[in-house]
Amino acid sequence: MASEKITVLIVEDEPAIIELVTFSLREAAWQVASVHTAAEAWEYIGRRPPQLILLDWMLPDQTGLRLLARIRADRNFAAIPVIMLTAKSMEEDKLAGLNQGADDYITKPFSPRELLARAKALMRRNNPEMVEASLSAGPVTLDPVSNSVAIDQARIDIGHAEFKLLKFLMAHPERVFSRSQLLDKVWGNHAVIEERTVDVHVLRLRKALKQAEGLIKTVRSVGYMLSEK
Ligand code: CA
Repeated sequence: MASEKITVLIVEDEPAIIELVTFSLREAAWQVASVHTAAEAWEYIGRRPPQLILLDWMLPDQTGLRLLARIRADRNFAAIPVIMLTAKSMEEDKLAGLNQGADDYITKPFSPRELLARAKALMRRNNPEMVEASLSAGPVTLDPVSNSVAIDQARIDIGHAEFKLLKFLMAHPERVFSRSQLLDKVWGNHAVIEERTVDVHVLRLRKALKQAEGLIKTVRSVGYMLSEK
């Protein structure tokens, strides 16, 4: 029931660079995954889209630029921020990368501090919800940056689905939502999820909230709401 962390994918064939990047980004408490080729990267992204991609220009199987074009052409992944890593410092290469849809560009050798600063700036720009202020309701606080929930400052265990549901309800307090509205807003209208599933997650959410479970109200024959009243 670990809360979901921000994952950064490094696509790079030089172990020393991977090590440097991993070291730099863990400081931000982000999870870092690494792959060495464009093919492995594409496979990884399809399985579990990361929140940020650091993409080397020169990869063993194809150029990072081609992989970038592929990512940008797929509507499922087009919004993932990408920073190109490269030894090239020519202005025209930089422009080619940015024209293909890179969000930023960093030239090797770079300092870990610089990389972290650029990555953080990009995340703030692309994921404003990640820098949102904490939400609170009664004794419950939800921190969207660390994806954590606390009751009276004591962190609780909460599943990913329950976290998303709680975040949505806390962002819209005192408003009733039907099961189908919650499915649409929280789960993005996946056909595989039935309305009954909402009840299951509400049940789990109440259990996770322990003494604060009363915040989640059932509104008979309508749906659910978060209310401090
Ligand atoms: Ca390389």
